[in-house]
Amino acid sequence: MTDMNVFHGFLAAIRQLPQAARVETMDDAERVKRAKGVMRKKIDRSLALDLEACVNCGYCSEACHVVRATGEARFAPSRKLDLLRRFHARESSAFAPLKRLFTSDITAAELREWQELVYDGCTECGRCSLVCPMGVNTARGVNVMREVLSEAGLAPAELMAVAQEQAGAGTVFGVGPNELKEALQALQAQGIDIPVDAPRADVMMVTTVIDVLLYHDALAATARILNHLGVRWTIRSAGFEAANFGLLAGDEALQHAASRRLIDEALAIGAKTVILPECGHAYPALRWEARLDDGGPLPFEVLAASEYVGREVQAGRLKLRPVEGRPRVTYHDACKLARHGGVVQEPRDALRAIGVDLRETIPTAEQNWCCGGGAGTFLINRAAPLRHKAWAIKREQIDATGADTVVISCGSCRLNFMAGAEEDAWPVEIRSLVEMVAAQLPA
Ligand code: SF4
Ligand code: SF4
Repeated sequence: MTDMNVFHGFLAAIRQLPQAARVETMDDAERVKRAKGVMRKKIDRSLALDLEACVNCGYCSEACHVVRATGEARFAPSRKLDLLRRFHARESSAFAPLKRLFTSDITAAELREWQELVYDGCTECGRCSLVCPMGVNTARGVNVMREVLSEAGLAPAELMAVAQEQAGAGTVFGVGPNELKEALQALQAQGIDIPVDAPRADVMMVTTVIDVLLYHDALAATARILNHLGVRWTIRSAGFEAANFGLLAGDEALQHAASRRLIDEALAIGAKTVILPECGHAYPALRWEARLDDGGPLPFEVLAASEYVGREVQAGRLKLRPVEGRPRVTYHDACKLARHGGVVQEPRDALRAIGVDLRETIPTAEQNWCCGGGAGTFLINRAAPLRHKAWAIKREQIDATGADTVVISCGSCRLNFMAGAEEDAWPVEIRSLVEMVAAQLPA
């Protein structure tokens, strides 16, 4: 059970973030120059194809929770890439000299306008790409736009503040190795065996600031499941933070540095598997985007906690007791896990193994609607009203299932659900998947 005082303290800390950001001052000409520099570097063959392929059919708008929630065409997925498209037309497309004659250059005012579109107004959920007849990967283009704006000094102050903290002190919301150890000691005092900084291990468990500060239940649950399975595992205090504010803010150098900490620790102990916590964006950051220094693939498996638990159930190694009373439960798929990562069956198999009455939202799984709080939008204070409207779509879909409990495998989604539930006095219980599974371990 989450301590609501800690939750409210976390929300208060988010409200203070803008004051902690070091805002880089530069004139408009410099902003545009820097923005174009990133566009030039990032528009590769695949992004160029995406930019040229769009036929303006508008299907993607119907699939986007931000457009649905606001009813505003300015948030249309295809429009979010317009600045990239114009730059490409003028600078790198086949007929650039000709197109330059009738395509206007981008301006600093437009860069400012796009800040709301690609940070507040896009969770990089990828739902728009499912319906696009041309297969345009809007989420990737939006992530490039975040890099563009970050380089132009226009990332939202909240994300800038946490990214600067992670790049400088190496902490996130003040959580570093000492704070981790304190949290782990509290769990050890409850009798949970947690091997910290073991020199060799098959499995390296990674956690995140949200679990260290707020969701001790998820942290404890993963540890209890690993102990029950008898694997040789550890958590490393020099590389434990899965949250990657380089990816969220658009700072590529920080993204690599944050992943590098985890990779170095996994290599040092000879880990065969790295288990990520319940954190949506940590999954693409380490599993899909991280590479060794020489560009080679990681020599270990990267699994989300829900994926790992589900696989153990599927393999018959993890046997669980049924929950009493067969509660009505629905599962919320975090976009980065289900749509981007294909983690769909594993959490459901784990829930079926504990005998719940599993009900699906319509739509569900890869087609699932985003909760509205992903890709760092939960930290952007001015985005709160937009986020809440997007969450209301999700709330209605869950209400239609008749479930009394929604199970979640992403700390960010869980935060957004808790904020929405509190604002609307929503009675549905919100639980972590690993916590629910660990509660049903055999005695
Ligand atoms: S990635 Fe998601 S939030 Fe972003 S434009 Fe597409 S559907 Fe909308
Ligand atoms: S669905 Fe695809 S082709 Fe149609 S407007 Fe959206 S991005 Fe363009």
